[in-house]
Amino acid sequence: MRARLIEAVEIAPGVRHFVFEAPELPRLSFTPGQFVSLSGAVDGKTITRAYSIASPPSAGNRFELCLNRVDLGTFSPHLFDLAPGATVEMGAPLGTFTLREPLRDSLLVATGTGIAPFRSMLMTRLNLDSPAITLLFGVRHESHLLYREEFEALSRQYPQFRFWPTLSQPGPGWKGRAGRVQAHLPEALGGRTDIDIYLCGLQAMVDEVRQVLKGMGFDRKQIRYEKYD
Ligand SMILES: Cc1cc2nc3c(=O)[nH]c(=O)nc-3n(C[C@H](O)[C@H](O)[C@H](O)COP(=O)(O)OP(=O)(O)OC[C@H]3O[C@@H](n4cnc5c(N)ncnc54)[C@H](O)[C@@H]3O)c2cc1C
Repeated sequence: MRARLIEAVEIAPGVRHFVFEAPELPRLSFTPGQFVSLSGAVDGKTITRAYSIASPPSAGNRFELCLNRVDLGTFSPHLFDLAPGATVEMGAPLGTFTLREPLRDSLLVATGTGIAPFRSMLMTRLNLDSPAITLLFGVRHESHLLYREEFEALSRQYPQFRFWPTLSQPGPGWKGRAGRVQAHLPEALGGRTDIDIYLCGLQAMVDEVRQVLKGMGFDRKQIRYEKYD
């Protein structure tokens, strides 16, 4: 099937929020956390890459992605060059990086565009009765805190949702958390090991955090993760 670009908006330096639609479908059905594969011809070769859906399932066939332009990358620059109305090939949503049922107290850890599946999950599942959920979100600079206003609004709306952004290279005006996500795990968990953990981002972060959690006594089954590279 095809995906047609509706619009792409720059939300941080080198990062865009893409709105697509799947014109052949009345409705795109997926579980929050799943990804779609997009394909296109780059320099005469067909390239396919996976992208987590960043929006909640809706009544229609629109869906949103959050992408960074990988310098010297093959496909992400191609997507950044698409004009509204252009189409790319798309596979049906796939993946097992979804929330466990029943939803329990959870810690979501993202770096960079690894925030995408969590935006979908949180927009779908947060309500006044949901369990306690902490979103620990690591980026380098304040300007890279993707969807910050949305997560801040959710944390005001739902007292059991904590939004913990942390900057690895904070500017002088930053008064919030600093350092890598790893530094904030003990405080986020508060000594508990009965919490479900979800990790999304580049391999280095995911592997390191899994290692730390294992050292804290977490079982492998309690940790779900998606590696982007
Ligand atoms: C299940 C899954 C979901 C994904 N979801 C997203 C998403 O929501 N948003 C997104 O931007 N990417 C996502 N990715 C990564 C995406 O599939 C591509 O790898 C990325 O766009 C780079 O492709 P490229 O062809 O431009 O680079 P390539 O020519 O393939 O070069 C790959 C290089 O880029 C690095 N890289 C890969 N992903 C990233 C990234 N996000 N940030 C920085 N460096 C990266 C790799 O380490 C590698 O060195 C996802 C990957 C997987 C497996």
